[in-house]
Amino acid sequence: MIQVIETAEEMQRVADRLRSEGKKIGCVPTMGFLHEGHISLMQKAREVSDVVVISIFVNPTQFGPSEDLERYPRDLEGDLKKAEEAGVDYVYFPSNVEMYPEGYQTYITVEDVSQGLCGASRPAHFRGVATVVAKLFNIMKPHMAFFGEKDYQQLKVIERMTKDLNFDMEIVGLPTIREPDGMALSSRNAYLSDSEREQALSLSRALEHARSLAANGERRVPVLVEEAKEIINNAQGVKIDYLEIRDGQTLEEIHEIKGPARMLVAAYVGKARLIDNMSIP
Ligand code: AMP
Repeated sequence: MIQVIETAEEMQRVADRLRSEGKKIGCVPTMGFLHEGHISLMQKAREVSDVVVISIFVNPTQFGPSEDLERYPRDLEGDLKKAEEAGVDYVYFPSNVEMYPEGYQTYITVEDVSQGLCGASRPAHFRGVATVVAKLFNIMKPHMAFFGEKDYQQLKVIERMTKDLNFDMEIVGLPTIREPDGMALSSRNAYLSDSEREQALSLSRALEHARSLAANGERRVPVLVEEAKEIINNAQGVKIDYLEIRDGQTLEEIHEIKGPARMLVAAYVGKARLIDNMSIP
């Protein structure tokens, strides 16, 4: 039977007990409104750890003042059902004051890898992400934590932070789960009307197009970027925030494909800001 825990103290007590019993704890931090992307992380955690702990917390410190914190979709009851089906043992579900009580003043900044891409249009976003994830690691005390490549820059920020701050655990990155037509699953897809969803498909199509050009030998980053942008600009009502190709590991800017690279895109479609990315061969 899945168990919901609301305080850090109790979650830490449970984690300590599990650790003393020699259990490997796998954790999956989420903001809830679970879909198959989240479920794939939980299934992997189930496969390689003894106990699976997820968190559901819509973290206010990673939202900007004019962003969608208030209307971010929530469905605890549905989430618990899905989590239970995926074999999750514990759900850490803290309140805002439990995570950020009065007087709270500590934040983590991961310098370089937080710059540019989403860091440019969402200035305090990765500071909020790094802070909440570090707190969740100290609360859930996992041996392994599972994150999706869907949020590729976030994955790199968390990998860097875990290494830099000597968190004694492993970060596992897992591939993006997509609809059959290529659309990346996201809780924010709930904001899209049918026609907006159709337009939003241009993101994954653009990435696929660039991928296949690269697979056929195109190495010039500006050419790949322009080709991809054209596909998105031809979709009505989609406004590109950024579309770039970066080094696949460091996320540094590159001008030519010489090794593992990543194309990353963010765009506004209706009320949603959507992101997607793919590896460039
Ligand atoms: P979120 O609830 O959006 O904060 O996401 C929680 C975790 O699920 C993060 O590690 C995301 O990268 C991951 N995730 C979200 N969407 C997908 C997807 N379509 N495929 C794989 N992982 C995903």
